[in-house]
Amino acid sequence: MSEFRHQNWAAGLIANNLTDLFIERTKAQSLFATCDDGRNITYNEFWSIAGRMASTLTSAGAKPGDRIAVQVEKSIEALALFWACVRAGFIFLPLNTAYTPTEISYFLQDAEAFAFIVDKPVVTSTAHFTIDDLSKGRDDFTNADTTWNDIAAILYTSGTTGRSKGAMLTHANLASNALALIDTWKFTSNDVLLHALPVYHTHGLFVGMNTVLFSGASLIFHRKFSPEAVMRDLPHATTFMGVPTFYTRLMPLVTQGNTKHMRLFISGSAPLLAETHREFETRTGHAILERYGMTETSMIASNPYDGKRRAGTVGFPLLYVEVRTEHGGIEVRGPNVFQGYWRNLEKTQEDKRDSGFFITGDLGHFDDEGYLVITGRAKDLIITGGFNVYPKEIEDVIDAMPGVTESAVIGLPHKDFGEAVTAVVATNQTLDELAMINQLKTRLAAFKVPKRILFVADLPRNAMAKVQKAELRKTHAGLYLTQ
Ligand code: AMP
Repeated sequence: MSEFRHQNWAAGLIANNLTDLFIERTKAQSLFATCDDGRNITYNEFWSIAGRMASTLTSAGAKPGDRIAVQVEKSIEALALFWACVRAGFIFLPLNTAYTPTEISYFLQDAEAFAFIVDKPVVTSTAHFTIDDLSKGRDDFTNADTTWNDIAAILYTSGTTGRSKGAMLTHANLASNALALIDTWKFTSNDVLLHALPVYHTHGLFVGMNTVLFSGASLIFHRKFSPEAVMRDLPHATTFMGVPTFYTRLMPLVTQGNTKHMRLFISGSAPLLAETHREFETRTGHAILERYGMTETSMIASNPYDGKRRAGTVGFPLLYVEVRTEHGGIEVRGPNVFQGYWRNLEKTQEDKRDSGFFITGDLGHFDDEGYLVITGRAKDLIITGGFNVYPKEIEDVIDAMPGVTESAVIGLPHKDFGEAVTAVVATNQTLDELAMINQLKTRLAAFKVPKRILFVADLPRNAMAKVQKAELRKTHAGLYLTQ
């Protein structure tokens, strides 16, 4: 690799292909993954699977830079396919297993995919292969020469606020972030990560897989998250990564006794409620380490490994990563920041400043001890009667009220106010809407107080535990219009 754009992190790393850096750090015969389908896969076997897949795709005519779209259930082969792409210089394009054929056809066309990898044959005009077909190639594949700035993957953003965009991540983005994470979280070859996250998203795919590969650690690989299965295998693990929902589901099962041997529990992808953090610590003695990142930037900040892990904060900027808050908005610069949105220069220019800082769209500030606190999303802003309302502020007040599990505050169309502040509250009790509104009036300026509070058993969430506010806005769009 010749182009060292970020000398400080890449200094001394010499490789013709990103894979070399990983292979160098791992022992061929050592265990890479124990799978819940009963297989044990060594590092050597893992690289061979990737090699066979790279040869099959190359024989089928794929060239460096071609996009390989993938919609498959979680498996070791799905992980290996990413490395097949890296080895051959293709661009890996993972797609959520929940996407419908209509959504898939948008991605295949938008990305002009060379091939579409599936579990079972499908009807599509794009050449497609089943993941089994791919494993039949020769495994003596010679890696392509790549550069740090080549695109390794395009990850379409989860699109909770608008049309999904393809974030182009380079080899440098992924390598620098993996190095920063193993340094921060102190991963070594003695670690065993229990992996229960999906692998079409940056969390399970890059954070989970690359910290392990880069440190020569191993995985206990679960195809789906199941609290019982996690508890069954936890005695053999040293570390665990989850979205906040994983922790709330594990809560009734964890004790000091069954987690004593664990080195680290990590949470991210959505806010971990301070209450969950505290309850987990009370039950187990472990303070969950919360970190913050996004598809476009990989990981940005993390609570410290040594030192206080503060509930409700996401800690300090990672190694090589600069974070600043401009007018309350979080901006990020460093070798982790993506190259841009696929064929969308306009959106790239809108979100990336000339100085290289990427505007995350998250709002936040550094607290008195320098920990980064996320206070909401800029796009979440509600404008009601000309006043700006930041939902997170109201959610924090509501969440502290008795009987409330959690809340989501949204703006709904209203003919006088433009948008009316509305709270959707998850509870397993019967709560009094009017009494709550009256109580909120004593705590919040009148324009911030929800006009209505709707009660539900659970808030709608996607697989990464993010509350689907767009869905709530859609469901309740007519609430004030019919009155
Ligand atoms: P995604 O691109 O799907 O990974 O989503 C990234 C977004 O998830 C970020 O911009 C944040 O809004 C949110 N996010 C990720 N980690 C955290 C966290 N620890 N606390 C709060 N929000 C988070």
